[in-house]
Amino acid sequence: MTPHIVVLGAGYSGTLAANLAAKRLKTKVTLVNASDRFVERVRLHQLASGQQLPDRPIEAMLKGVRLIVDRATGIDPEQRLIQLAGSAEPIAYDTLIYAPGSRADLESTPGVAEHAYTVAGAEQSARLRERLRESSVVAVVGGGLTGIEAATELAESHPGLKVRLVTSGELGATLSQRGRRHLRRTFGRLGIEIREQAKVTEVRADGVLLNGGEHFAADTVVWTTGFTVPDLAREAGFAVDEHGRMIVDETLRSVSHPDVYGVGDAAAARKSDGQELRMACATGLPSAQQAVGAIVARLAGREPKPLHFRYFNQCISLGRRDALIQFVRADDSPVEAVLTGRMAALYKEAVVRGAFKVQSYPSVPTMV
Ligand SMILES: Cc1cc2nc3c(=O)[nH]c(=O)nc-3n(C[C@H](O)[C@H](O)[C@H](O)COP(=O)(O)OP(=O)(O)OC[C@H]3O[C@@H](n4cnc5c(N)ncnc54)[C@H](O)[C@@H]3O)c2cc1C
Repeated sequence: MTPHIVVLGAGYSGTLAANLAAKRLKTKVTLVNASDRFVERVRLHQLASGQQLPDRPIEAMLKGVRLIVDRATGIDPEQRLIQLAGSAEPIAYDTLIYAPGSRADLESTPGVAEHAYTVAGAEQSARLRERLRESSVVAVVGGGLTGIEAATELAESHPGLKVRLVTSGELGATLSQRGRRHLRRTFGRLGIEIREQAKVTEVRADGVLLNGGEHFAADTVVWTTGFTVPDLAREAGFAVDEHGRMIVDETLRSVSHPDVYGVGDAAAARKSDGQELRMACATGLPSAQQAVGAIVARLAGREPKPLHFRYFNQCISLGRRDALIQFVRADDSPVEAVLTGRMAALYKEAVVRGAFKVQSYPSVPTMV
């Protein structure tokens, strides 16, 4: 008898996993998601800056997959059941693919939950878009890839807005020297003020406080310092790391529950050399393919191959007319080769479109 596969979360990795499982196994596949719309999270800074994003009904993306639009509130691994907010009837699974993604971390610094805006979810980004109508100074907190994309997008689309970026380390610390140089030129061109080596200790309605006690003024604060994951895995008793990410082996299978696989941001997957994969589409899509491949192999009585993954590049948009493609070694460390300007912007756009399109053509190899 073929198993009932339930996928929890219809983001980049869950939707791909569901379509791929239906295609390769011809078994019953159910996808559970809190909303009936697919959120292109990698475009949420565009939404926040006022651009219209395409409407993506999930139903139209699925082939041979049943969609349940509801929020999972708990998982019972003994009974293999998923409890739902909107239905008294839980869903039974034989194999679970856990893919509920991540959200903004609002708890680690005082005042963030009360006063800050984020680009981590569709509703939050739409809230920020509305807020910007009455803003004159925005402080983006975080000098990583999300902070860079948000600051440049907001500055480009709102030329009258003063954008300031504050980061506890160096802006674009994971980039090569060439990459960082291009970043600084772009920030200069867009008039974005940069404050480095300054840790934010509190967010207030009128800006942020820095570790020396200095007040960094802004009428809107955008928090981009990191993502956190839902508590479902921890509460269910699955093995999780200190951040609550499901610990999986090199076939993406839970190390504590062999009928459960974890993919995307909510799973702590590792390459065969032990390096942990960062939260990204770039890792979520291959991990979804790997997990389904492992399920197919085990059902056929074969030993699954371990995750074979290497990084190629980091693709960072800098508004709509510029971008930075930072080429990297297999371990994600930067080499001194970058692509910038309009070609890079086109490259990044093609990558973002590819991450969406692969959902409907799930057998295509991914390179995000
Ligand atoms: C502004 C921004 C820019 C980014 N740019 C890039 C980039 O350029 N390149 C890159 O590789 N990555 C980028 N990322 C990161 C990337 O978006 C995430 O790593 C990716 O979305 C993770 O995919 P996922 O499938 O794990 O989860 P998600 O895409 O977060 O999807 C999870 C899904 O699960 C659903 N869900 C969650 N909890 C429940 C529940 N209890 N019940 C039912 N459904 C639930 C959610 O509603 C959602 O639909 C960016 C992120 C942001 C915010």
